[in-house]
Amino acid sequence: MPSESPSSLRYVSTRGEAPELSFEDALLAGLARDGGLYMPKAWPKLSHETIAAFAGKPFAEVAASLLEPYLGGCIPRGELITLARDAYARFGHPAVTPLVQIDRSLWVLELFHGPTLAFKDVAMQLLARLMERVLGTRGERLTIVAATSGDTGGAAIEAFRGSSRVDAVVLFPQGRISDVQRRMMTTAPEPNVHAVAIEGTFDDCQALVKAMFNDLAFRDRLQLGAINSINWGRIIAQLTYYFVAGAALGSPHRPMSFSVPTGNFGDVFAGYCAKAMGLPAERLVIATNENDILYRAWGTGMYTQADVVATTSPSMDIQVSSNFERFLFEATGRDAAFVRNKMNGLRQSRSIGLGEAMVPYRESFIAERVDQAAVTDCIRRVKADSGYLLDPHSACAVVAARKTMTSQSQHIPHIALATAHPAKFPDAMQTIVGERPNLPPRLARLMSDPERIAVLPNDLAAVERFVEDRSACRRGAAA
Ligand SMILES: *Cc1c(COP(=O)(O)O)cnc(C)c1O
Repeated sequence: MPSESPSSLRYVSTRGEAPELSFEDALLAGLARDGGLYMPKAWPKLSHETIAAFAGKPFAEVAASLLEPYLGGCIPRGELITLARDAYARFGHPAVTPLVQIDRSLWVLELFHGPTLAFKDVAMQLLARLMERVLGTRGERLTIVAATSGDTGGAAIEAFRGSSRVDAVVLFPQGRISDVQRRMMTTAPEPNVHAVAIEGTFDDCQALVKAMFNDLAFRDRLQLGAINSINWGRIIAQLTYYFVAGAALGSPHRPMSFSVPTGNFGDVFAGYCAKAMGLPAERLVIATNENDILYRAWGTGMYTQADVVATTSPSMDIQVSSNFERFLFEATGRDAAFVRNKMNGLRQSRSIGLGEAMVPYRESFIAERVDQAAVTDCIRRVKADSGYLLDPHSACAVVAARKTMTSQSQHIPHIALATAHPAKFPDAMQTIVGERPNLPPRLARLMSDPERIAVLPNDLAAVERFVEDRSACRRGAAA
C-alpha cells in the first residue's frame, strides 16, 4: 500500500460504496452510509526508534504519538496530549494500564483501572474528548446510540454524562448483565444519558443500532453517531496499551504474543493494527468463550452464527463480531465487493464461507475456545499460586495464552489482556472462588444510588421513538 503523509490520510468504507472521509467525518459518522466500516487508506508506519522511545514515557504522550498520524492534523499535538492526560486522569493507577507478571513468560495487562472497571474506559474516555473537540469546532451536536453487552454502555455513559454536545442512548439486553454493570449505566443522573433495557439478546441490541443507522432519514434527522467499536476512533484509542506494554517488555527488539478476550473483535483488531504499524506482535490470540464463532471460523473457514449462550464472561457473549468485517477487508487485500457480497450473504443465511481469505492470516492470529470449566480452574489456580484474582474475561485470555505456549514460543513474553476488574462480576466470582471482591472505594455509592431505566421491546419503531423523544438534536436545541 502506498504510504501517505498524515495530513492526507483519508478513510474508506469496507463496502466500497460510501464516499471517502476525513478523520473528523469518519469519527462523527461511525458507520459508513453503505453499511460498511471505515478504515484508513494506508497504515502509518512507526520506526523502531519511535517504538523503542515509548518505553518509560507517560501514557498520554504515547497515546498522542499513536493517534496523531490518523487525525490528519485536525488537533495539534500539544492539545492532543492535554486531551489524553485529561482522559486518563481519573484512572486508579498512575501507569494507566500496568503489567503484572503471574508466571514465567506470562504477564497480565490490567486494562480495568478506569471509572467503570473495564477496558472500554481506555478508549471511551479519549473518544469522548476527541468527539467533543471536533463537535465544538464545528458548532454541531450528536445523538449517540450504542448497543452494549454490558461494559460499553457504562463506559459511554461515564464518558459523556453532562456533555453539552452529545445525547447518549445505550441499549442493553435485559437481565443478561451483572448488577454492577447495570448500575454503572442507570445511576448517572444527567439528563443527556439514557440506559434502555431491550427484551432480547446483545445481538438484538446491535441489530437495532445497525437498523437505526441504516434508516438514513432518521440518522440525518437525529445526527446519529456511534461509539461502539464500529467507530474508528475506538480502535485507534486501543492501540495505546499494545504499544505501552510492548515497549515495556522490549519491543521493537523482542517479539511477543498478545492474548485477547474477544467479543466484537474490536480489541484484537486493534492489536492487528498495532502490528500493521510496526509492533512485533508475533502472535495475536483470539480468546473466545463458548460463543465461539471466531474459533470455529478459524478452524473450518465457515463463519456461521449460532445462538448466544450465557456465560460468566457476558461481554464476550456475542455471535456477530462487527469488526470481523474490517479483518475480511484486510485479509482480501481490501476487496470491498467481496466484503459487501459476504455481509449480504451473512444477513440472509447466517453463514458465509471465507474461501481463501483467511489462509495467509492464520499465522498471525490463533483462535482458542475456552469453556467454563477451564475458566473456573484458571481463576482458582492463579489465585492459589500467586494470590492474583482474575475476572472470567481475563481468565479466558490467560487460558488461551497458556494453550498457545509451545516449546519454541516459551522464551517470548505472553501478554494476556485483563479486560475487567473481578468486582464487576461479584456473582460469578462468588460461585468460582467463594468471595465477592470489593469495589474500589471510589465506587462506594454505586450499589445504593437510585436507578433510572427504560424497558423497551425488541422493536425498531419503539426504539426510534424513544431516541427521537430524548435527543436534543430533534428538539432543535441550539448547539
Ligand atoms: C467488550 C469486552 C470484551 C470484548 O472486546 P471486543 O473488542 O468486543 O472483542 C472483553 N472483555 C470485556 C470485559 C469487555 O468489556
